[in-house]
Amino acid sequence: MTTRYRRVVLKASGEALMGSQGFGIDVSVVDRIARDIAEARSLGVEVGVVIGGGNIFRGVAVASKGGDRVTGDHMGMLATVINSLALRTSLVKIGVEAVVLSAIAMPELCESFSQRQATTYMNQGKVVIFAGGTGNPFFTTDSAAALRAAEIGADALFKGTQVDGVYSADPKKDPAATRYERISHQQVMADGLAVMDTAAIALARENHIPIIVFSIHEEGGFGAILKGGGHCTVVEDAAQADPH
Ligand code: UDP
Repeated sequence: MTTRYRRVVLKASGEALMGSQGFGIDVSVVDRIARDIAEARSLGVEVGVVIGGGNIFRGVAVASKGGDRVTGDHMGMLATVINSLALRTSLVKIGVEAVVLSAIAMPELCESFSQRQATTYMNQGKVVIFAGGTGNPFFTTDSAAALRAAEIGADALFKGTQVDGVYSADPKKDPAATRYERISHQQVMADGLAVMDTAAIALARENHIPIIVFSIHEEGGFGAILKGGGHCTVVEDAAQADPH
């Protein structure tokens, strides 16, 4: 089986890891995502992963109660490290070589991120989990995913969401909502479609990185798209994207 993708970044929100618990980490869900990543590796695709932290902590939660936003964001970035260590454990358990590289130095737990080290590990076929977001407050892990995708020269950024693509309206509220097959970064920003935050979309657009929006909850969905099938929306350069 061949795939057109050589190297990709997968972004999953922290909330994707909590399953039906409503908080924290459901190990069975992390194990399932690890199996999907293993399938991608078996197709020969080099995989970088960014996991959010929203299942544990978001900086805005502190700020909304009058607390210090920067400290809150530091706590959110630490949450992404917890999730990244959980994913590494699940990958290693099924025989997939994986490393965590953190934007915030914590040498007892994992290595620090550098573009060169990340590229070296990916060339060796290791799954690289990018922890700690961008390392800066006032950013999100969506932006971290777009940034890392640009830094490592990824062919595509896979954004795992609650639904299987980008819809004209919220499909949970509007039964008439339709899924886009292809759409441009520009249109996503102009229409304010909830794909990723604006900084992430802008970074992907400037670096000509397609964003593939798919359901993180569908087992085998990641692999199916890598093989050329599956359900998703491709956000790409305006010249390639069909007007809907
Ligand atoms: N965060 C940050 N800088 C970054 C990435 C994340 O400050 O570069 C903090 C921020 O507080 C954010 C939290 O980490 O709310 C968790 O990340 P995010 O909200 O992106 O997680 P997700 O929604 O994907 O679970």
